[in-house]
Amino acid sequence: MEKTAVFPGSFDPFTIGHESIVRRALPLFDRIIIAVGQNVLKDSYFPLEKKMKWIRQVFQDEPKVEVTTYTGLTVDFCRSIKAGYLLRGLRTAADFEYERAIAQVNKALNPGIETVFLLTMPEHSSINSSIVRDIVRNGGDASPFVPKAINLKE
Ligand code: ADP
Repeated sequence: MEKTAVFPGSFDPFTIGHESIVRRALPLFDRIIIAVGQNVLKDSYFPLEKKMKWIRQVFQDEPKVEVTTYTGLTVDFCRSIKAGYLLRGLRTAADFEYERAIAQVNKALNPGIETVFLLTMPEHSSINSSIVRDIVRNGGDASPFVPKAINLKE
């Protein structure tokens, strides 16, 4: 059976930490769906369409990767596209506690879906989207932290 993983997130914006997780997961799955969540409680700094376009640019030569958006429960989205795996990245102990709770609740909601965690590469462990947004807001150069294919000023 085809192994499909969903990599859900707000990706506000997509960073080299996210890119690395997806590339390292490629040998594990037949398809990876990067799903940009629309969270009613969390306003996005960058518009959804831009975030999706940027991620598509990063993986334009990678046929296993698709980019989409979803609303509602992540496990319901997985079921709707017949994905059996959720992919998440772990940077710190704080990530672990947060991710543990979400993964265990997701398992209770849908026992058929396994969450797979990859540990961040050490050089990416302090990169997060909120720091990148702060750099952009304050007129700094955030390009070292986002994939080369993404121009945040675009
Ligand atoms: P969310 O709002 O769902 O936390 P994010 O876009 O912040 O979405 O993150 C999506 C996933 O990517 C999460 O599993 C997060 O832990 C992981 N992630 C974020 N930054 C990094 C990084 N620098 N290295 C590895 N994983 C990361």
